[in-house]
Amino acid sequence: MYSTDTKCVQAGYNPKNGEPRVLPIYQSTTFSYDTPEEMGDLFDLKKSGFFYSRLANPTVAEMENKIAQLDGGIGAMGCSSGMAATTLTALTLCHAGDNIISLSTIYGGTYNLFATTLPKLGISCRFVDPDAPKEKIEELIDEKTKFIFCETIANPAMRILDFEKLSEVCKKHKLLLVVDNTLATPVICKPIEFGANIVIYSSTKYLDGHACALGGIIVDCGNFTYLNNDRYPDFNQPDASYHGMVYASDLGQSAFIVKARVQCMRDIGAMLSPQNAFLTQLGMETLHLRMARHSENAMAVAKMLKENKAVEWVSYAGLESHLDNHLVKKYFTNQMASGMVTFGIKGGREAAQKFQKALNLIRIVTHIADVRSCVLHPASTTHRQLSDADLAACGISDNLIRLSLGIEGTKDILDDIKNALYQSQN
Ligand SMILES: *Cc1c(COP(=O)(O)O)cnc(C)c1O
Repeated sequence: MYSTDTKCVQAGYNPKNGEPRVLPIYQSTTFSYDTPEEMGDLFDLKKSGFFYSRLANPTVAEMENKIAQLDGGIGAMGCSSGMAATTLTALTLCHAGDNIISLSTIYGGTYNLFATTLPKLGISCRFVDPDAPKEKIEELIDEKTKFIFCETIANPAMRILDFEKLSEVCKKHKLLLVVDNTLATPVICKPIEFGANIVIYSSTKYLDGHACALGGIIVDCGNFTYLNNDRYPDFNQPDASYHGMVYASDLGQSAFIVKARVQCMRDIGAMLSPQNAFLTQLGMETLHLRMARHSENAMAVAKMLKENKAVEWVSYAGLESHLDNHLVKKYFTNQMASGMVTFGIKGGREAAQKFQKALNLIRIVTHIADVRSCVLHPASTTHRQLSDADLAACGISDNLIRLSLGIEGTKDILDDIKNALYQSQN
């Protein structure tokens, strides 16, 4: 078994004699066969192979293979974005009348999907506070509940997931635990080791890491039993739309990821493109080096902010003073806490604007988690339509600044921020 570092570089594509050393981009929608029988066997899943890139493509498959190995899962599916990955997961598991439970501290786009879009399809979401006790979460579960959703590192709340609490609830109720591991990546945390059943990524963030390619990934941990589980009748009855297949008994361990592909991806078509799979795979080759550096730079910035007079508060789970620091110690590799830091600047909105304008190296970007450091003031950008009261309800104050620390030289980043903080107060 190779280490995570070696898997980042080498897992996945493994050329045979005389083949290209680097993963080729198979820029083809279709694949050709000598006989109709061979093509028929592919449709019946009797043989594995490619026939149409909406369902599977060799470049995408090697990227999927790499992330599945990194996470310790049994398979993965590339999607056109992180949002597509979450949507396809929900649609593979739920139909009208079903419900899901989600921690309230999740990415804004996912919150909107759960609070507004899925309810239009008859799938409701029950939000719960991350600090709610187990009993409170259990009260929300009924026979129509299909999964519990949460983020390893919540964006932008910066809360760390209490895996033990949620996985105990899920095991007791034979319920799936779905974890968005975007900000941690498998380098910092492998959710499968702490009870997750399905892991989701926006590969747009650290996996690509260069802000080049939108993408999403669903990883199936292969550690959940659907067979004869009354909560999942769709897995235990023949699927008339796919040759009468009974996913739980015909596929066993890989029931979820095959259903996600042959049913949901087939019908919805939010597939990752070969070009973006290539770029994502390339990014992942240096993921282990980058996550260490992102974490190091973020820690240095968080420590500096804590001592700076222009700063009211700092939120970074790597700091001893953060309320979730014990969870970083419990679950994260080498106590790395990833590259995002939030803080409150003295002087509210006005100081926040002055601060951003005074930055030179760090640019104003609606993005996080790439090699270049960037800054965002949610109250005047992503959340600008909200009143101050609504902002407070989302846990976003008008002086909150979100920094995503890149992999530039630490001193250059610190100097840029210190200078801008000084200017913001004068
Ligand atoms: C960005 C993000 C998403 C959405 O991903 P896209 O690739 O932008 O669709 C989902 N979850 C988290 C935690 C994110 O940061």
